[in-house]
Amino acid sequence: MSIHQRNKSLASRHSALSDTFFQLDVLNGKAVSDVRIPLFSETIRQAGYAEGRLKSGRIEIFQVNVGKLCNQSCAHCHVDAGPDRKEENMTRATFEKCLDILSRYDIPTVDITGGAPELNPNFRWFVEECRALGKHVMDRCNLTIILSNPKYRDLPQFFAKHQVEVVSSLPHYNARRTDSQRGEGVFSDSIEAIRLLNAAGYGQEGSGLHLNLVYNPTGTFLPGNQAALEREFKSQLKRQHGVEFNNLYAITNMPISRFLDYLLESGQYENYMQSLLDAFNPTAVAGVMCRNTISVGWDGFLYDCDFNQMLGLKVSGSRTHLDDFDLNLLEQRDIVLNQHCYGCTAGAGSSCGGQVA
Ligand code: SF4
Ligand code: SF4
Repeated sequence: MSIHQRNKSLASRHSALSDTFFQLDVLNGKAVSDVRIPLFSETIRQAGYAEGRLKSGRIEIFQVNVGKLCNQSCAHCHVDAGPDRKEENMTRATFEKCLDILSRYDIPTVDITGGAPELNPNFRWFVEECRALGKHVMDRCNLTIILSNPKYRDLPQFFAKHQVEVVSSLPHYNARRTDSQRGEGVFSDSIEAIRLLNAAGYGQEGSGLHLNLVYNPTGTFLPGNQAALEREFKSQLKRQHGVEFNNLYAITNMPISRFLDYLLESGQYENYMQSLLDAFNPTAVAGVMCRNTISVGWDGFLYDCDFNQMLGLKVSGSRTHLDDFDLNLLEQRDIVLNQHCYGCTAGAGSSCGGQVA
């Protein structure tokens, strides 16, 4: 299968994996493969978590997934996002519900993700309103959106004006390796976008404007040491392209959505799941992001994390929508765990902010 075909969304290919129940069946050894990986809950029970349960702590991050529409169509996308995913986009009314909650509760950070969140017509207004509430705002920007249309060229200035922390994927400082995962020409556009962000002050010492890059492996291996990768990326990007950034977050490819499709197609699913299990790190469990995050879907439903959101696994309990938001209950909830959680606890662990152990 060519990269171009592989990068089409599962939805547009009418893949069986576009059904989240089917993905969960695969992960639980009930479809496609009969590989038996021990239940994640049983593994953490043996690691000392009573009854194999994981509890939320204080919620510090309100993550909003504004929709699946994206100008890119990356091979490993866990959202199954792409230019064809126009149907699931957060409306103004749902954004307003988010703002109402943010105004009532002391949740310090709003983490905006997608898709390419900037494609949502309410994006800039939402950022401004969050800032007016005194929240720290993060935008998961894919970089190329800045160059995709003249109307997005001023995003670096917009981000700088509102002190938005920009978090952007760049799988490698090698053009071929990045393009193989994210699409032809993505690397050169990403470098140009970083240049524009640098010119607006991002990644520059003393500016207070943070540009953090996200590395994920271009194959079925676990990320290496985050600090070493950061040093390597910094020196290579500076030397080869004259661009700078603040921190590098190394994350593990989660065995869901398009990466799961890739694993199955390439016959590497069993080996990959086994490598996650073999690398299970009990100390990484405490730092998984679901413990301090609530993830909001485009339609206002609540999830423990963006991965659970993409698997349709809503938060436990009966209050699963913005309309029933109860911070006190959410901060005592049991996290909904499943076999993909091994991706967050392998090696040094993996979260939206990189390695955790
Ligand atoms: S840029 Fe991000 S959201 Fe868009 S397809 Fe790539 S991984 Fe998915
Ligand atoms: S996949 Fe989500 S629920 Fe599972 S451990 Fe990771 S962050 Fe938590």
